[in-house]
Amino acid sequence: MVSGQRIMQRCDTLARHSELPGGLTRVFLSEENRAANELVLGWMREAGMQARLDAIGNVAGRYEGNRPGLACLMLGSHLDTVRDAGKYDGMLGVISAIECIDFLNSRQVRLPFAIEVIGFGDEEGVRFGTTMLGSRAVAGALDPAVLETRDAAGTSIAQALRAFGLQPEKVREVARQKRDVLAYAELHIEQGPVLEAEGLAVGVVTAINGFSRLRVTLSGMAGHAGTVPMGLRRDALAAAAECVLAVERIGRGDAELVATVGRIEAQPGAINVIPGKVAFTIDVRAPRDELRRQAVSSITNEIANLCAKRRIEPQIENLQELGVAPCAGWLMAQLERAVAAEGIPVRRLPSGAGHDGMALKGIADIAMLFVRCKGGISHNPAESITEADAAAGAKVLYRFIENFQAGP
Ligand SMILES: [Zn+2]
Repeated sequence: MVSGQRIMQRCDTLARHSELPGGLTRVFLSEENRAANELVLGWMREAGMQARLDAIGNVAGRYEGNRPGLACLMLGSHLDTVRDAGKYDGMLGVISAIECIDFLNSRQVRLPFAIEVIGFGDEEGVRFGTTMLGSRAVAGALDPAVLETRDAAGTSIAQALRAFGLQPEKVREVARQKRDVLAYAELHIEQGPVLEAEGLAVGVVTAINGFSRLRVTLSGMAGHAGTVPMGLRRDALAAAAECVLAVERIGRGDAELVATVGRIEAQPGAINVIPGKVAFTIDVRAPRDELRRQAVSSITNEIANLCAKRRIEPQIENLQELGVAPCAGWLMAQLERAVAAEGIPVRRLPSGAGHDGMALKGIADIAMLFVRCKGGISHNPAESITEADAAAGAKVLYRFIENFQAGP
């Protein structure tokens, strides 16, 4: 049977490959990323899969069906992390999927479809500030111009791919066709407190909330903090402070909406100088696209009003937008049968966080299974799950795979 113990051990083993000793930070195309990929490739091969690194740096494994070349059920999650991350966000989904294949392989079971497991190289977007590079490439939705995006050190994605031994000009070849992928299913920790509060090991995701990301630059006038009278100032940071509070107020306007300013930078950034320029980011999420778009437009209008009063010039840039990704009813029904067969009451819940399924919905129907995590904590070293829940998640995933029927 699938082993919760081995899943936990493998999560621990992967977590050793980190930029920071004593913590876990593993960004796209880093040396730590390379070491983690090698481990995962090895586990895939041990489980009877053909495995390789694709041109965008995803680890891709394939377990053939009862004859070669069949369309696949795609499983996966991501192998990159945020800074100072936990051990399970992403990795648990990849390792659990390999565990299921290993069990099939040990019993020499071949199904009437192939199974592919992908460990996406970049989902979090920490290094290049642009998320889901791996899954967007698989979905054929990655604009090659994105490969010119640079990290903080000035290295472009294309350069980093080359330094990693990959060929960026072949990224297009990573794209899969609709006819090749029967469905995409991902197991992931919940990153929220609902399952814990209800005493449930797993839950079935209904939809992944959409998001909008904006970058706002406010231009005022820098000046001497001692000599420019208050009434004559064009202080970009004071204006930004009002904008941040407006984002919070608009985010509070609907129970389904969240809005966050996560980063702010003032220039020139000296104690005795009035800030002349401020840049900040905004992240808005909602389970309904219309609600999110309304919020973004309210925020944009409010920033324009606040800036007009202060004679500040705002510039608002749309960095990225992804619509709500609903999970397919026919896949949810099959997952729910697998949950119930494990004796777990079926709980449906939405995902507030983004996941690779948002990109993959372009080529396949998607489903997600959430596994309970302690205190709803993620993106944090305190992220924790139990071995029993890891086993429960993998058992449900295994049942889902074994009984999978393509199509509604
Ligand atoms: Zn994740």
